[in-house]
Amino acid sequence: MDLPDIKSLSRDELVAHLQEWQQPAYRADQVLAWLYRRRVTSWDAMTNLPKPLRDRLRETFRLHTLALVKKQGARDTTQKFLWQLADNAMVESVLIPANPALYGEASDRHTLCVSTQVGCAYGCKFCASGLDGWKRNLGVYEIIEQVLAVERSMAAEAPAAPASSAAAVPATPEISPKPASADSRLINNLVIMGMGEPLANYDNLLKALTRLNAPWGGNIGARKITISTSGLAPQIRKLADDPLQFRLAISLHGATDEVREKIMPVNRKYPLRELIAACEYYQERKARMITLEYILIAGINDHLDQTRPLADLARRLHAKVNLIPYNQVEGLHWVRPTEKVQESFLAALERQRVTATLRREKGHDIDAACGQLRLKTEREIQRVNPSAGNHEEK
Ligand code: SAH
Ligand code: SF4
Repeated sequence: MDLPDIKSLSRDELVAHLQEWQQPAYRADQVLAWLYRRRVTSWDAMTNLPKPLRDRLRETFRLHTLALVKKQGARDTTQKFLWQLADNAMVESVLIPANPALYGEASDRHTLCVSTQVGCAYGCKFCASGLDGWKRNLGVYEIIEQVLAVERSMAAEAPAAPASSAAAVPATPEISPKPASADSRLINNLVIMGMGEPLANYDNLLKALTRLNAPWGGNIGARKITISTSGLAPQIRKLADDPLQFRLAISLHGATDEVREKIMPVNRKYPLRELIAACEYYQERKARMITLEYILIAGINDHLDQTRPLADLARRLHAKVNLIPYNQVEGLHWVRPTEKVQESFLAALERQRVTATLRREKGHDIDAACGQLRLKTEREIQRVNPSAGNHEEK
């Protein structure tokens, strides 16, 4: 029988289990502190729990971790992690320091780009994540574990105990449900922009984010969490009704149905009119700024004509536009426009009184185009051993 992973539980659910076992509620806080603050990977590491309780937990729950297959990039730059899950499926997470060592100081704010599905069913024409189709949704613990597993790796690499490292956490977590302090949290921001369409895995995503946000869990502020969607209008409305104040980014990439349809099949199901109405509803409920993501692809959506409808949409939604030069994907023929075209597109938006940014940093080539490392690795495995690495075999 497949046991549930302990990290799929809320604090209340854990307390209820422990009550059934005649255990005091403070035991739940001890367990949660071991999981979210110390990020332990075994029951026996929970040294302040009586052995019979550890055994009971072991019999009732799993304590899964993610197996690191590959890591690309160096500390203080963008790092890409490729994980293997229990059924051999692979997903990626990308760690982005806000403050690269480039400026002579160590980075202390980190953003993690998190995956929510294995593959993607939405098949945007430019994207590596959807190339091999959709395999499955990630479970609650698989989403949470990306954060904890990357932090484990960061803590292991950290130079001797700076104030903000995991080593600053006391050896035995407190009994009281004290929130994980910023000191013990190495990742401060989450962007749900890895592999998969987050809003197509709505329930698991919301559960995972609720646990990552809770003071007894990850303690990452909801405003530090951005969910990116290709435009699932009904789920955007549902998210608007959720009490948590997550930020929302829309992968727009086309400001008219004609252009958007060419590259994003989802536009046929939820055309711009429906998508924009859902965004307006989100804003009414949340009074929150929406970001419009716009990848610039040469000859597809980078003509200056397109700045007019894009500016109209941005002004209507009071949204900021994030221009992202397309990242080449192996096997796809799309290319990024020249820097000159990128800059004139930005300037044209600014002339139309739109707040816009253009991603100019170099060295970002490994962080966008999420899904590529997994695709490449799976294809390599297939080449070497055609019967291995097929995560459809359960
Ligand atoms: N499925 C969600 C979230 C994951 S994709 C979504 O589509 O929003 C995260 C972002 O990366 C999206 O804006 C997506 O369009 C963009 N993206 C995908 N492939 C890319 C590429 N090759 N270059 C640049 N951005 C890309
Ligand atoms: Fe899926 Fe987003 Fe890639 Fe489109 S851009 S295929 S929705 S992951």
